[in-house]
Amino acid sequence: MNLVLLGPPGAGKGTQAVRISKAFGLVHLSSGDILRAERKAKTELGAKAQDYMDRGVLVPDDLILSMMMDHIGRPEAANGFLLDGFPRTLAQAEGLDARLAEKDRKIETVINIEVDDAAVTRRLTGRSTCPKCGRIYHEEFSPPVKAGICDDCGEALTRRKDDSLEVVGQRLKTYHEETKPLIAYYQNGGLLKRVSGEGSVDDVTAAIQEACRR
Ligand code: ADP
Ligand code: ADP
Ligand code: ZN
Repeated sequence: MNLVLLGPPGAGKGTQAVRISKAFGLVHLSSGDILRAERKAKTELGAKAQDYMDRGVLVPDDLILSMMMDHIGRPEAANGFLLDGFPRTLAQAEGLDARLAEKDRKIETVINIEVDDAAVTRRLTGRSTCPKCGRIYHEEFSPPVKAGICDDCGEALTRRKDDSLEVVGQRLKTYHEETKPLIAYYQNGGLLKRVSGEGSVDDVTAAIQEACRR
């Protein structure tokens, strides 16, 4: 199965992607995580992406599309993949469909995780992540046992620079202008399934699994 998780920044895509990819045996491909890894490794792509990411606007479509097609083409993804944070523009979605069709592959299901702007703002401004294992926390909604420390590996948690209130505002604006049209795109293609993202993490996981079976 090839799956897309759609939704605003902070909807819980990363949190759910870990659980859903495990449940269905899919490779989890997060465009944001891949970009942050490229930056950390100081690659040419990482350097190109840096300024866009820090401002909360989108990295150019051609860079993202070739980066994601590279990962989709790897052997680990041959039995199915889950896309998280990609596609984010109509051009990316159309490019993805065209490139997959060349290989006789396609997206089978798109899950739109619905959370309103006020809730995603609270989620993003309280988010922290483990730099070592990638586990996602929230200071109020899913806090670690010991404040600031990862439960799994004892590493100090970090906050993303773009989770500041100011950049979050820009990211939401970008979402409404550029990503929201994808809902209609996938609806028209008959692939879209809507899930409320406002419940507990467990509730949302159950709703996504249910939607995949519908
Ligand atoms: P995205 O990948 O869509 O940006 P994340 O999975 O990183 O979203 O989640 C954003 C923040 O919201 C994190 O701090 C996470 O712990 C928290 N979160 C995720 N799902 C829920 C939920 N169902 N209820 C409350 N907080 C949540
Ligand atoms: P979020 O928590 O908003 O879901 P991500 O980790 O997915 O955040 O994205 C962080 C930043 O990386 C975005 O603000 C954007 O600059 C860049 N980015 C990630 N995915 C894409 C994409 N598909 N197209 C363009 N830019 C992207
Ligand atoms: Zn950890």
